[in-house]
Amino acid sequence: MRAENAQSVVDGNAAAGLLWDVFGTDVTTLVGVCGGCGSAAPLAEAVVELDEVAAIVRCRTCTHTLLTVLRQGDGVRLVLGMLGELVRE
Ligand SMILES: [Zn+2]
Repeated sequence: MRAENAQSVVDGNAAAGLLWDVFGTDVTTLVGVCGGCGSAAPLAEAVVELDEVAAIVRCRTCTHTLLTVLRQGDGVRLVLGMLGELVRE
């Protein structure tokens, strides 16, 4: 990550595009259960730190990293963090 990259803190909707590239569908409506604090909330409501190449999706309750999405060339990589469950309600 270059120092001059501006990083913005947004909500999970801003990561929808990157997540779409991984899953091939919109997963922001799925409920993510944090493995750290047990909080359950739609991914759209998570805190996302976004820059040009990565989206770090954090639990809104305890700020643990649920997952990170990294853009690599034409591909994209999903790194799981404290995400315990993904639930469609
Ligand atoms: Zn949490």
